[in-house]
Amino acid sequence: KRHNQFQELKGNIRVFCRMRPSLPSERTHEGALVQVQFEGGQVTGSGSDKMEFSEQVIASTVTNKRVTKTYPFSFDKIFTPEHGQAECFEEISQLVQSALDGYNVCIFAYGQTGSGKTFTMQGPATHNNNSNNKDHHDANNAGMIPRAVHQIYQVAQMLSDRGWTYTMEGQFLEIYNEAIHDLLGEVSDYGKIKHEIRHEKNGRTTVADMTTVQLDSPSKVKTMLRKANHNRATGATLLNERSSRSHSVFILRLSGHNETTGERTSGVLNLIDLAGSERLNASGATGDRLTETKAINKSLSCLGDVIHALAKNKEGAYIPYRNSKLTYLLQNSLGGNCKTLMFVNISPLSEHFGETLCSLRFATKVN
Ligand code: ADP
Ligand code: MG
Repeated sequence: KRHNQFQELKGNIRVFCRMRPSLPSERTHEGALVQVQFEGGQVTGSGSDKMEFSEQVIASTVTNKRVTKTYPFSFDKIFTPEHGQAECFEEISQLVQSALDGYNVCIFAYGQTGSGKTFTMQGPATHNNNSNNKDHHDANNAGMIPRAVHQIYQVAQMLSDRGWTYTMEGQFLEIYNEAIHDLLGEVSDYGKIKHEIRHEKNGRTTVADMTTVQLDSPSKVKTMLRKANHNRATGATLLNERSSRSHSVFILRLSGHNETTGERTSGVLNLIDLAGSERLNASGATGDRLTETKAINKSLSCLGDVIHALAKNKEGAYIPYRNSKLTYLLQNSLGGNCKTLMFVNISPLSEHFGETLCSLRFATKVN
């Protein structure tokens, strides 16, 4: 019953904004943070959260007089720097439950590089530090992927009393320059296999030659994320460089079967860490950089177009899924009965004001 609220209250598309806290290394000089006023909606799902985003601008170059220019935005939910991972997950847990009930769900993280997309999805970067204290800290900061799998695992165990058996299969891929790479495969195969997307008649989407992990215990998620991040780092010259210029997609397929009633469900939960949205100037770039830049600009704007078209919710409207690999891959998980959530991750730093404004505007367009 609870998960239906999502649909009934406001279509199938939700946008959440999350501002990350400033990092210790950024707290060096005063006035480095943007000015922002948050105003929370009362009950989740009923009202929307509002924010006023302000900038000091020079109104007169003669007198050097400054005025405050304010940009208002509203979102289905706003997470301020004080909100932790658990609070974010609380707001998406019913979506995760929907996937278990047989819906196709997409959860995106959109934002400039350094705004907290990977932190939101996965958690803090995994360093090889095995002290207990660090593990405890990491568990508190676990991102949406490990929390989602954990919840599904727990609910599936509960439902086994009522005759349900679930299988959870995970795939992890990267879309870089409009080509798909398997992040769970052999490092030596990276970039050597052409992974074709197939949409089957039954509505199922498959990607050819992908490694599939049976996520039958929570510890497998950790191993999987580690492997994916290792592959991502090895396939690329520099981890951050590459991860900011590609999309990573975690696909969790959930199939349920009830022995007693004979019922079956099948749902897909897609968690997507998008390429950095920072405006890339194609005019200065050449060669590989130009190709990359074009690929990112194109796929992010295609995603915006698709979600925008879906949000308008016109029956029979043309949805331009085929214009990018990402939207083509997710075709059966966007629109129709599917549920979509986008986290717009933003930075609290003044120097990122312009990019933040762009991200907020993108979000407004898709909302
Ligand atoms: P992106 O993936 O968008 O490039 P990251 O997720 O890597 O950004 O975040 C950049 C830095 O900020 C990382 O060091 C990350 O651990 C930290 N960070 C991001 N979001 C948070 C948060 N909500 N709380 C604490 N630290 C965060
Ligand atoms: Mg990242």
